[in-house]
Amino acid sequence: MSSPTIRAPRGTYDVLPDLAVLRAEVEQTAAELLEAAGYGRIETPAFESTELFSRGVGQSTDIVQKEMYTFEDSGHRSLTLRPEGTAPVCRAYVEHGMHKLPAPVKLYYFSNFFRSEKPQEGRYRQFWQVGAEVLGSHDPATDAESIVLAHTLLDRLGARGLRLRLASLGSPATRSAYTADLKTHLRDKSDELSPQVRARIDLNPLRAFDSDDPGTRRVMAGAPRLLDRLSPEDAEHFDEVKALLAAAGVPYEIDSTLVRGLDYYTRTLFEFSSDALGAQSGVGGGGRYDGLVAQLGGPPTPGIGWAAGVERILLSAGRQPSPPVGVDLFVAYETDRRQAFQTMLDARHHGLRAQMELTGRSLKGQLKHADRLGARFVAVVDDDGLQLRDPRSGTQEPVDSAQLIALLQAEVPS
Ligand code: AMP
Repeated sequence: MSSPTIRAPRGTYDVLPDLAVLRAEVEQTAAELLEAAGYGRIETPAFESTELFSRGVGQSTDIVQKEMYTFEDSGHRSLTLRPEGTAPVCRAYVEHGMHKLPAPVKLYYFSNFFRSEKPQEGRYRQFWQVGAEVLGSHDPATDAESIVLAHTLLDRLGARGLRLRLASLGSPATRSAYTADLKTHLRDKSDELSPQVRARIDLNPLRAFDSDDPGTRRVMAGAPRLLDRLSPEDAEHFDEVKALLAAAGVPYEIDSTLVRGLDYYTRTLFEFSSDALGAQSGVGGGGRYDGLVAQLGGPPTPGIGWAAGVERILLSAGRQPSPPVGVDLFVAYETDRRQAFQTMLDARHHGLRAQMELTGRSLKGQLKHADRLGARFVAVVDDDGLQLRDPRSGTQEPVDSAQLIALLQAEVPS
């Protein structure tokens, strides 16, 4: 009896070579763009102490309430696979004393994240984000720079039908006074709300703006808006962010109902969506988090950041997996495997992309395989020694290995 097969867990997927090529392009484009703007790459561990997220992301959020992969290690410590990147970056900032570096500190990452969500197209349980964080600046130019960079990246990668929504959440004091009023509004109309929203009035009333339920939407249409309550300083900060975006030519819409699923945001909040995506239309988003570093035990440090989902960028750009890199030389052989092997290694040593026959095909089969691989040149080792073959005409002429390399180097663009 054969053994049953084992599949990848639900909501995860394998990155096969064709897809890896596309993802490498996203990573490379992000690295070029962000490094040119002064960002250094950071990679934090795939798992962290659970407390980092319960304290950093917020107890009332969907992420902490129901989406984390949490487990105990052999020392009875509670650990969690990272569901997002900002809290880990802030943890690393504090742990490595980066507040002593000249401000602002600019960091970016390209990492995998884990959320136990219901899988569907564009929503996975392991997914990748490219993200960027700036620590140590209150300046609205930092907010505008972050948004412009996210926009440029999405644009360069070909994301289609982009929409940028923008809001400000003001300071924590403004937000908590507003939240109290919002709760009153929701309680007054609680019989018109969906049961889920009703159950969360106390825990996270802002999320009611995200609901698709028609009754809840009617109630929210008449709800007070945080944007109308900003303090003069917060309003001035927001106005400057808007002016800088306008000057940069980045179109945006103000959306007073914008809320995001993380508790740490203050002031600027933004989200990119794509008309080319279905139900999961969010491509990326972020915001300012001026209290987070202090909340994690560090010195009071303002911060702002964003993250964009790699899978959704590729979906939105309509990019199809493309074959991996080509082959400059395929070495076929009839007689001397060792000479074929050495020829392949020599070619590689000289910077050429070379492969040889590895499965014992007939010469005819080897030539067919070279053709399938799209090899630009084919060398054949037979009774007459090393031959260079023209794949088009099928003619062969003897060469020595130095001639072969020189010829290929002249023909193959470096
Ligand atoms: P968030 O941290 O929830 O604001 O997510 C930022 C971006 O990450 C989103 O706009 C999506 O592009 C992507 N994202 C979030 N959750 C998932 C998921 N479960 N599967 C795939 N991409 C996701």
